[in-house]
Amino acid sequence: MKRVLYPGSFDPITKGHMNIIDQASKMFDEIIIAVMKNVNKKEYFFDYEERVNIIKELYKDNPNIKVMTATGATVDIALENNCCGIIRGLRSLTDYNYEVEMQQFNKEISDNKVNTVCFFADKEYQFISSSLVKEVFYLNKDISKYVDNLVINKMNEKR
Ligand code: ADP
Repeated sequence: MKRVLYPGSFDPITKGHMNIIDQASKMFDEIIIAVMKNVNKKEYFFDYEERVNIIKELYKDNPNIKVMTATGATVDIALENNCCGIIRGLRSLTDYNYEVEMQQFNKEISDNKVNTVCFFADKEYQFISSSLVKEVFYLNKDISKYVDNLVINKMNEKR
């Protein structure tokens, strides 16, 4: 049973994230999506519970995809949940530079127990980010290329 942890902010979950989940679910038996409570981060659009509920709803027919909120070190969350590794998505060199540092750090603080596997977004999803979605949404432009309809409805309810 190969279980992996997919940590992130997911504010909101985009088609880019979903593309990574889709690719990873073909390689691993179970994915735990961890909505990370990051104390340092600025304001959020959705609170943690709302983000978790949206993701749960999106994957309600997929028992191999689990969702939780988490705080602290991702390596600890991975180990506590018997995950064999962490998955992350790569879009650009900026992502790469960040992820290369993080994976090294995570390996070190977990005594080499937790490794990271990166997936590449398919090209139509490569430029999608949660912050872009929020900007386009606030400009009253169409975001249906970037997020699922469920997310659009939840964003409209919140506006
Ligand atoms: P974080 O705050 O950890 O960056 P995000 O929710 O923004 O959280 O992203 C979680 C992970 O998903 C990161 O590895 C990020 O690079 C990846 N990701 C986000 N958007 C995309 C996308 N469009 N394509 C591929 N990977 C993505």
